[in-house]
Amino acid sequence: MSRITLLWFRRDLRLDDNPALIHALTTGAPIVPVYIHAPDEEAPWTPGAASRWWLHGSLLALDASLQRFGSRLWIARGDSLTELRRIVAATGATGVSWNRLYDPATRERDTHIKQALRSDGLRCESHRSTLLFEPWEIASQTRSASKTGQPYRVFSAFWRACVRELSGIRPDPAPESLPAGFAPVDGLTVDDLGLLPTIPWDQGLRATWTPGESAALARATAFLDARIGAYSVARDRPDAPGTSRLSPHLHFGEISPRRLLAMILDRFGDPAADPAESFVRELGWREFSYHLLYHFPRTPVEPLDPRFADFPWRTEGVAERLDAWQRGRTGIPLVDAGMRELWHTGWMHNRVRMVAASLLTKNLRLPWQVGARWFWDTLVDADLASNTQGWQWTAGCGADAAPYFRVFNPVRQGERFDPDGGYVRRWCPELARLPNQYIHQPWTAPPPILMAADIRLGCHYPLPIVDLATSRQEALAAWGTIKGNR
Ligand code: FAD
Repeated sequence: MSRITLLWFRRDLRLDDNPALIHALTTGAPIVPVYIHAPDEEAPWTPGAASRWWLHGSLLALDASLQRFGSRLWIARGDSLTELRRIVAATGATGVSWNRLYDPATRERDTHIKQALRSDGLRCESHRSTLLFEPWEIASQTRSASKTGQPYRVFSAFWRACVRELSGIRPDPAPESLPAGFAPVDGLTVDDLGLLPTIPWDQGLRATWTPGESAALARATAFLDARIGAYSVARDRPDAPGTSRLSPHLHFGEISPRRLLAMILDRFGDPAADPAESFVRELGWREFSYHLLYHFPRTPVEPLDPRFADFPWRTEGVAERLDAWQRGRTGIPLVDAGMRELWHTGWMHNRVRMVAASLLTKNLRLPWQVGARWFWDTLVDADLASNTQGWQWTAGCGADAAPYFRVFNPVRQGERFDPDGGYVRRWCPELARLPNQYIHQPWTAPPPILMAADIRLGCHYPLPIVDLATSRQEALAAWGTIKGNR
């Protein structure tokens, strides 16, 4: 009897530390690697343009790796269950193996697919590959936040529970060979999926990134070789490459967090001690984001803090404010630099994400969901768990969130984390000739200084869209209308 297994790739686009692959290999029979493009099933969170761009490159890289083993990716488009059944019929496969995903719509779909395929008589196995820990493991009785096994809402307690388990983590190596391949009968090519933009706006992405497993490993190695030692300080500076920039690679599963952790263990020993601690803690925030999404699946659209359902978001001038924010034309240099970096490269530094999100939700008083949606469309690392958590945290309505009344001051943030203005000068070149003293607040520069720097405010660069002090007071007053609600 055939023991052929379909290996259904999703956001685990790698061969290393891939539990579904390891499981499929245990039969010794051929494996049929499959990718199904099913954007409709992910509605309303179908991948945005930047994510689709990344996916195109990542699928090409995965297919190339498989071909080196004499195998190849069978690419299909359409309803996932229908396509899996069609490929099962074409190959005579008797099993399907995949790695789990955690966004609510996909979980529901996968549960249905597992039941349907099992009722067809197939072996179906799903595995952990995206996270260090399954979201339910950390909420379990043995490692519970409280004796009742409730999910965690406070990061430090969640992370303490995780840290105890870190040294036991061992990733699986990539296989040295694959069983004889199985040529796709009617597979599509990656190009057929139409993931790339029809209008070529993606030069910045191409100049910045190389999707794929090898590039992910190279980036991780380079970061651990050269930058992790300074990470705890450099991570807050958008003007220098102090962070790993592994987020899109992690999102698409080109490198597993378990592999990353093992690389850290090999080099530095204890991941909870310097120099690795602060970096590993950020992987912890990623875990926490998934924990929250799993336990609170409505949070991509609803605030975790129910008081915010009644928040008086602004209703006038919304389109104009949103447009200025999206295009990096708010007149607030640090925010504009970040929004332009995002548009050009599909990525924005974490510190600037927080400042840009704070300006939108507090000074401009627009709903966090609107900003989250823009990030979703433009980030190459757009991730439902981390994006939701990042926006709710900044807006003050999430788990362990920055209190609403802590409004980031983009001028002070700029002076502290981009002290020489290098980041602003790079992304807002029209401000490049301003002295450091004014680079984060050009509206305070005396006219002769502006003239000497070739800047006419309101012409070459916008005047600030809001007065930061007044809008902060208005935001606090708005918060006052809901803060007593329970
Ligand atoms: P590093 O500093 O090198 O960190 C290593 C890894 O840890 C990252 O690759 C990422 O996987 C994880 N990580 C780091 N910080 C966080 C965090 N605060 N929350 C969750 N995981 C974290 N991250 C995404 O991956 N996708 C998103 O869609 C996303 N949206 C965000 C939206 C807002 C408003 C905010 C404030 C943050 C968001 N983040 C998101 C988190 C964070 O900004 C990025 O993970 C980080 O900037 C990625 O850069 P890096 O890989 O160099 O990070």
